Amino acid sequence: MTHPAQPKASHFINGEYVEDTAGTPIPVIYAATGEQIATVYAATPAIVEQALSTAKAAQKEWAKMTGTERGRVLRRAADIMRERNHDLSVLETYDTGKPLQETLVADATSGADALEYFGGLAASLTGEHIPLGEDWVYTKREALGLCVGIGAWNYPTQIACWKGAPALACGNSMVFKPSETTPLCALKVAEILIEAGAPAGVFNVVQGMGEVGGALVTDPRVDKVSLTGSVPTGKKVYAAAAEGMKHVTMELGGKSPLIIFDDADIDNAVGGAINGNFYSSGQVCSNGTRVFVQKGIKEKFLARLAERTGNAILGDPMDEATSFGPMVTENQMNIVLGYIEKGKEEGARLICGGARANMDGYYIQPTVFADVTDEMTIAREEIFGPVMSVLDFDTEEEVVARANDTEFGLSAGVFTKNFTRAHRVIGNLEAGSCFINSYNDAPVEAPFGGVKASGVGRENSKEAIKHFSQVKSVYVRMGDVEAAF
Ligand code: NAD
Repeated sequence: MTHPAQPKASHFINGEYVEDTAGTPIPVIYAATGEQIATVYAATPAIVEQALSTAKAAQKEWAKMTGTERGRVLRRAADIMRERNHDLSVLETYDTGKPLQETLVADATSGADALEYFGGLAASLTGEHIPLGEDWVYTKREALGLCVGIGAWNYPTQIACWKGAPALACGNSMVFKPSETTPLCALKVAEILIEAGAPAGVFNVVQGMGEVGGALVTDPRVDKVSLTGSVPTGKKVYAAAAEGMKHVTMELGGKSPLIIFDDADIDNAVGGAINGNFYSSGQVCSNGTRVFVQKGIKEKFLARLAERTGNAILGDPMDEATSFGPMVTENQMNIVLGYIEKGKEEGARLICGGARANMDGYYIQPTVFADVTDEMTIAREEIFGPVMSVLDFDTEEEVVARANDTEFGLSAGVFTKNFTRAHRVIGNLEAGSCFINSYNDAPVEAPFGGVKASGVGRENSKEAIKHFSQVKSVYVRMGDVEAAF
């Protein structure tokens, strides 16, 4: 019997499901059991061509509609997503292995927020009037044209919506390629947009690995590329986009610092560290994986952290009591286990976890290392799994310098009751998305993105509009033209 997660076909182009079984088969594996639940096929060159030519043709008419009309489509899509939240969350759990306890509140709901927010903004995307004596300049905020979205595997619904919603609000069309690891959810987003009244061809989904992403990025018809992925992929995609002078948004990896001063509320700080390391089993780009704890409270912090980490419920992700799911793939599990071994070898002190969980599926115990030093591999490289490194510090000046000593700059957090220190420290940290007495909140109203190697551009908020549109300025002369000859 066909599994309920199996989509009707692999791709969604011009308003309908499209199949081409000549492409490389991509198995979809449910991470909680290791069972294959679906198959899709990577896009062949013919499918890529169909998606790009359709999106190119659909964009002009979509951009001619009023912002109010485009916004209405997006807001209807948000309503449909919320009505179907349960089914979409189950699919997200099949796609990623993340527990339903999370997916019910963090995926289709977050996607719906983006559709609603950008739907609301679509009608007010205007230019300005610049008076110049009798003459004047007016500006128009115009769509970029055809945009390509490329997703990572940790938030397949959210990423499709965080890219699709602002792109469509501005009058662009999009071809979205999900991660080959999680190909299912974006197809539902495409289906819902059509149901909500989006013209066929405005939002298309094609499957495939890096080659398909590469074919999309290098096509001359494409005006913008928005990637969520790792830094090495980001460098390749950015370079390929630069060849064609295309706009880019790069949402890449991190190794973010979370700084806990000795006056912090310990339970809140422990809660922040748990949210910033173990949500989605640690597969979150903005995670605060270098937890700097001021020496005076270190042992108290570690004791409370170990106690609360012991309350994680590993189990069937479809059981809403489960609070901690598997790694997305066997490969990702092995990468993370490799880092755990490195941590042990390099002399970090294991506080809890430290091994694969004794159950089916790709589960790793939530793991905390203490006495981690700045040079250890687990303190330098992005692990993308449930491995928290706790480092000690003495002074503010020292911790800020150490926190910034990384190629990454996605996020940073500080826990302290001293508010002048909180703002001063955040002001000195090199990161794009920061938190004071909290960690990992990502409301659509707030800009999200990194500095340094963690990326270029911002998603969400009004900032995203700037990255999916461009300004045309028009000089209007009211009198005669003066010329030298
Ligand atoms: P990845 O870089 O391996 O792949 C990302 C996407 O890029 C996939 O869809 C992949 O098929 C595609 N791709 C690979 N090579 C390509 C190429 N040459 N041209 C075009 N496309 C190509 O990342 P992943 O393993 O899927 O995701 C994990 C990474 O994503 C982590 O580093 C994580 O930090 C990052 N991430 C960042 C954010 C953010 O918003 N900053 C969010 C989630 C994940």
